[in-house]
Amino acid sequence: MKWSLKIGSILGIPLNVHITFILLLILIYFAGGSVIGVGGIQGVIFVALVFASVVFHELSHSVVARHYGIKVEDITLLPIGGVARMADTPEKPVQEIIIAAAGPAASLFLAFILWFVADFFGSGVTISDLSVQGGLLAELTAVNFILAVFNLLPAFPMDGGRILRGFIGLYLSPYRATKIAVGIGQVLAIVMFFGGILSGNFFMILIALFVYLGAEAEERQMGIMVALGGAQAQSAMISELHTLSPQQTVGDAAIRFCTGFQSDFPVMDDRRLIGLVTREAIVETLHQKGPTALVSEIMVRDFPTANEQTPLTDVLQKMQSTGSKAVPILNQGELKGLITLEQIGRYNMLCSGYSCDFMQAEKT
Ligand SMILES: [Zn+2]
Repeated sequence: MKWSLKIGSILGIPLNVHITFILLLILIYFAGGSVIGVGGIQGVIFVALVFASVVFHELSHSVVARHYGIKVEDITLLPIGGVARMADTPEKPVQEIIIAAAGPAASLFLAFILWFVADFFGSGVTISDLSVQGGLLAELTAVNFILAVFNLLPAFPMDGGRILRGFIGLYLSPYRATKIAVGIGQVLAIVMFFGGILSGNFFMILIALFVYLGAEAEERQMGIMVALGGAQAQSAMISELHTLSPQQTVGDAAIRFCTGFQSDFPVMDDRRLIGLVTREAIVETLHQKGPTALVSEIMVRDFPTANEQTPLTDVLQKMQSTGSKAVPILNQGELKGLITLEQIGRYNMLCSGYSCDFMQAEKT
């Protein structure tokens, strides 16, 4: 994720914090007293412990996902919570249910342990203590309990939404299951929105908006996945491709960029693909170093690739999980084409609500 700093890794999974999270810590240090009731170093420790709880939650999603062979790219902490980025979506509804349920289960478990420890030290926690006025242990117990309950709301992007989709997915297609789960989540969001207005609870209104938009994003994503359907990479790749050599200059790349439709260029050393020059690199380098900089200096060497038979949905997922906007298509090491986000957008425009099977038939 952009603007994230890596602070370490747990169980082989990189742990990042988003820059806004650091700003949050600074804000709490100086103004926490009036915002959350604790400021200074005490406030910072409290927020850090809250986020350790979030990491524990995300980590349990990750460990279960890994158990099913799904690669976890990293865990990022944002001021609104954590995100565990996964390279794939679960294949079976049962897997989705178990991966999604692991997070709230871990938070409940932690809440229970903390409650037990607090009880042991004599500062017993009762339901009525679950507020910021209690001790640190009581607060953390409350935080983890809320984390579990909040995430069990049956609405995207919460875990509860995924659990719900998983259960519906046992009986219906993934697309229908997503539609129904999104609908239920949005009805819930609307109820929460009016509940928030009637009770004057600003926080509830905010969550309602968050849930409504999250549901919509999930539906859009699923819509694209359905439109891409069973299509393979060869149906949407640019096959008449311009390439660059490492000795060419940014000026050469800029001319190509402006006189054709292609904006990202594979870099070839003889007949071997060794790099990728992105549109961002061309623009940035041209402005900063001028047209004489070499392609070999600005190309990226680490990027995803696929072959002609790779499903388009997998190519899109590779783009989303790596942040790369272009994926070279190779056949036994030989460059065959390039898929960019635009290409996927064009395919989606053409084939959304229409079966583009004829394109597959023509190619094979
Ligand atoms: Zn979760």
